Amino acid sequence: MNEYEKKIHKLCKELIPVFDDLDTETQEIINEHIHCCPECDNMLDKRDFFNTTIENTENNESEDIDIKPLKKLVHINIGIRLLLFLMRILVLFVISFDSLRFHDFGDALAIQTFQFGAFLFYLPTAIFLLVFTWTFLNKKWIIYSLIVDLVILLAIWQLPLLH
Ligand SMILES: [Zn+2]
Repeated sequence: MNEYEKKIHKLCKELIPVFDDLDTETQEIINEHIHCCPECDNMLDKRDFFNTTIENTENNESEDIDIKPLKKLVHINIGIRLLLFLMRILVLFVISFDSLRFHDFGDALAIQTFQFGAFLFYLPTAIFLLVFTWTFLNKKWIIYSLIVDLVILLAIWQLPLLH
C-alpha cells in the first residue's frame, strides 16, 4: 500500500459507516478500494449486517406494537359481547326470582309482576345495552341484539295468553 492508497484507506474507514448517505461517485471509490483492501471490505460487510439487524429489530418491534393492541381489542370485543349477554340474563333472572318470591309459578300475579319487572328493568337495560352496542360494536351486533330483545319482550308480553 503506497501513501496515496493509505490516504484512500483512511478516508474509506471514515466514510464506510455512512456509506448509504454518500454520493454514488464516492461509493464507487470505496467499492474500488475494497477490492484490494480486505479490512474495508470486512467493514462494509459488517455495516450491511448491522443495518439489516437494526431494520429487522425495528420491524419486529413495530409488528409487535401493531399486533398486540389488535389482539387486545379482539379480546375486549368478545368480553363486551359476553358481558352484554350476561347482563340481559342477569336482569331476567332477577326479575323471575323477584316474581316467584311472593307468588307461585304460573300464578296470574306472578306473571303480572314478571311483566311489570320486565318493562321496568329489562326494557331500560336493553335500551342502554343497545345504545352501548351501537357506540362500541359493529352494526351487525345491533341487529342481533335488537332481534333478541324484541323476541324476549314479545314473549313476556304474550305470557298471559299461555296462562
Ligand atoms: Zn481500506
